[in-house]
Amino acid sequence: MRIILKKDASGREVARVIETCIEMTGDSRLVKVEATDGQITINLLTVGHAMDPQAIRKLDGVEIIDEVTQLYCLAGGGESAKEGFSVNPVSIPFAGVSVGSDEFVVMAGPCAVEDEEQLISLALKLKSLGCTILRGGAFKPRTSPYCFQGLGIEGLEILRKVREQVGIAVVTEAMEPSTVEIVSEVADIVQIGSRNMQNYPLLKAVGKLNKPVLLKRGMSATLEEWLGAAEYVLCEGNQNVILCERGIRTFSRHSRHTLDIGVIPVLRERCKLPVIIDPSHATGAAGRVPSMAKAAMAAGSDGLLLEVHSSPEKALSDSFQSMPYDNFRELMQELRGIGEAIGKKVRHPVESN
Ligand code: PEP
Ligand code: MN
Repeated sequence: MRIILKKDASGREVARVIETCIEMTGDSRLVKVEATDGQITINLLTVGHAMDPQAIRKLDGVEIIDEVTQLYCLAGGGESAKEGFSVNPVSIPFAGVSVGSDEFVVMAGPCAVEDEEQLISLALKLKSLGCTILRGGAFKPRTSPYCFQGLGIEGLEILRKVREQVGIAVVTEAMEPSTVEIVSEVADIVQIGSRNMQNYPLLKAVGKLNKPVLLKRGMSATLEEWLGAAEYVLCEGNQNVILCERGIRTFSRHSRHTLDIGVIPVLRERCKLPVIIDPSHATGAAGRVPSMAKAAMAAGSDGLLLEVHSSPEKALSDSFQSMPYDNFRELMQELRGIGEAIGKKVRHPVESN
């Protein structure tokens, strides 16, 4: 972050800004003060958790805060970001949908690809309800090595068949650079999971692709770290990054994670990329997904990533948070109602045929 002070800032105002910066960074060595032609610039060599640009902006004597240009100038909107953070959002069109437009894009499906017939039948139903992108992991990042790890290459083959037969776009996760190419042959969107948000070789590898990347927020990542990760993909050349908030780890223990819906308006201020919400991994409970999904839409999300299973109780992973199909149908109906109120279109069942 770079703070440029007004040329006529008084000594007392300058001192107050420097003091605040030291308080926020917690280390005076991270606060570098420069004076050129009578203008004082303070460079903060940190992306720390406590850095609150609003708190600095309101101090007397502050002219400009150049927060985004150094650390995430591409995600932050390039030139427009310099003009007082009036970030122009981008939309990402692909496979007949456009994420970040007036369309509210619903991505749904099982946590993991399990079985071809089961997935075809679910995908047909989901598509008929207006879901435009089928989710399903072939490579699964699991907390325990003893849990189902996904079908791997076989899972990708199933996804390829389902994609062709059903005529639906697919989002699936790549876990390591060596599999990015084979995953991207099947995927319309390549997902980077929460645990891999800061896997820089992986981010660089998907940055070389010519297809959208769904970048999930690391479960302990600050906004700056998340946007820094997006920047790795963007600066390799791939401009099609969709952010996905999926809940963060806090002191709260009543749900699997804490869904940070409040990040949406902050992203809108600082970042041009579309953002979607995953209430399934955030809440960890299927019954809590609809309320969070609706709240996310009302708060300005560009879409949702939802876990839906034909028999949730039999799901091989994330069974408890997977919605049954009937509840998904109900939710889609409710989302359409919210969409009408806020000017976002949820694809109608008839249009998807
Ligand atoms: C997923 O969406 O399949 C997944 C593993 O989620 P996350 O990376 O957010 O935990
Ligand atoms: Mn899951």
